[in-house]
Amino acid sequence: MSNGPRQWQNYTDILEQLKTFFPVPTSNPIMDGYFVHTISNFLDRVDSLKSAAPILGIEQERRYENSFQQGFPEKISSVEEMTKLLADYCQGMIIWAHPNCQAQVIAPPTIPSIMAFMAGAIYNPNILSDEYSGRFAEAEVQAIAMLCDLVGYDPKQAGGIFTFGGTGTILYGCKLGLEKLFGGQVMSCGVRGEGVKIVTSEASHYSRLNVAGWLGIGTKNVVTIPSTANNEMSLIDLENYLRRAFERKERIAAIIATLGTTDAFGIDDLAAIVHLRDQLAKEYGLEHPPHVHADSVIGWAWLTFRDYDFQINPLGLHARTIRSLQDSVQRISALSMADSLGIDFHKTGYAPYISSVFMVKNRSDLNLLSRDPAQMPYLYRFGHYNPGIYTLECSRSGASALAALANMRLLGKQGYRAIIGHVVEMSEMLRERLESYPFVEVLNDYNYGPVTLFRVYPDGVDPALAFQREQTDPDYCKQLQEHNAYNRRIFERIHQQAMAGEGVLLSWTDAYRHAGYDERLPIAAIKSFIMSPWTGIEAVETVARQVARIREQI
Ligand SMILES: *Cc1c(COP(=O)(O)O)cnc(C)c1O
Repeated sequence: MSNGPRQWQNYTDILEQLKTFFPVPTSNPIMDGYFVHTISNFLDRVDSLKSAAPILGIEQERRYENSFQQGFPEKISSVEEMTKLLADYCQGMIIWAHPNCQAQVIAPPTIPSIMAFMAGAIYNPNILSDEYSGRFAEAEVQAIAMLCDLVGYDPKQAGGIFTFGGTGTILYGCKLGLEKLFGGQVMSCGVRGEGVKIVTSEASHYSRLNVAGWLGIGTKNVVTIPSTANNEMSLIDLENYLRRAFERKERIAAIIATLGTTDAFGIDDLAAIVHLRDQLAKEYGLEHPPHVHADSVIGWAWLTFRDYDFQINPLGLHARTIRSLQDSVQRISALSMADSLGIDFHKTGYAPYISSVFMVKNRSDLNLLSRDPAQMPYLYRFGHYNPGIYTLECSRSGASALAALANMRLLGKQGYRAIIGHVVEMSEMLRERLESYPFVEVLNDYNYGPVTLFRVYPDGVDPALAFQREQTDPDYCKQLQEHNAYNRRIFERIHQQAMAGEGVLLSWTDAYRHAGYDERLPIAAIKSFIMSPWTGIEAVETVARQVARIREQI
């Protein structure tokens, strides 16, 4: 470096500069204006990255290799430099709200839910206790109350908290199951003995494995019940398994029912599962019947249609959409029968990551999670709110609760119905268009969510017959693999075109399901997940045309 005179700078001078890096704590029109201007400047920069393609800027090579050559920065930078840097890191981000984005169950967040996250970011509420979170704590309690009403839980009995994702809600559900099974002793003594089971369906989310692993239950103790062609848990197989298990005195902590599977919107028959649990508990004289947790992180939003007048149909939805919604709502209405359930606002709630709710039918169950069981969680009782006594997290942001509250107040049932109605309607149209092709098979035929899974076949192949044989016929295994590769090629071409601003961005699932005769043989699928209120009939037409054109070229 240079031989020049050493630069001395008193830290207090630096501190003066650093103060300009923070929003000012007391009102100061100039510095307040600077804060607003900085954010607005940042938003302008990111805005300038928008184009016809459903992505900010251009798709970037990810530079992971060089990352480790960077040391910890030596010098102070500036807010202006960081504005550029942050905007730069937004490059390559998919725009979930884009009309040509049908990629995943990822929500474009509403403006008020973004403001809630900004409020959280600026004032940093921690709902460990209301002492550190002011009215953000109230927002949590009120959001839970509104959701009790939506679900049909008794507000005098039920309770809940926001947590770190859908996975967190399943973790809480299974943890309650464990505690109930061991009489509330697991918190202090750990899981005793081996072979405690968690029962769920084959089509359930893979987070069941994380939960089993992290709770000390063990992934090998996750029992997956086969799914039917409708992607719901086979009740016959469930009953057979449970009977055998209870006869062998096996211990089952929890049954997880999925209401809206991620890949196909399969909906388990929760009412039947709860009845079966109750009946077998009586028959086998179980002291601790399995806890039933409903993984409704995607499906919960359909509850807003529970009291919709499908006859009069004031929203003017199409007949096919009505049928589909009614079908789903009928199943999902059973949610109040679950002992606990999960809700993701960052999925079908249109809030930013992360905003997940864990709810219990009996809030006294939360006592089982309190670190000092002698201490009752004094929910709403003494004018103080200290959920930190039983939450897994210590620091827990208030932003997620406020964002959820904001969206429920902003959209109401009316707004959620219109948005969910729309995405289901667009998916129905897409299915109709795809079904009209003699070379496409729509795989999730009976599941009527916003997701469509399909496979494309070469000339001379009957799609329905081919898909049938792929699932059942060992002699057809070579064709199955060829068709997987064929679809992969089509998907990749679609992806390239979408990124170039010439078409719709879809996604891909490696294993929609597995061949019935060999669990290692996946059946892949092209996937469309419609979430954006901007996705219209043109985008649906584009997908259909795109698929046909690319198939011709291949
Ligand atoms: C997404 C999803 C999860 C996991 O939720 P995260 O919020 O991603 O942790 C669990 N179950 C289902 C059905 C899901 O779709």
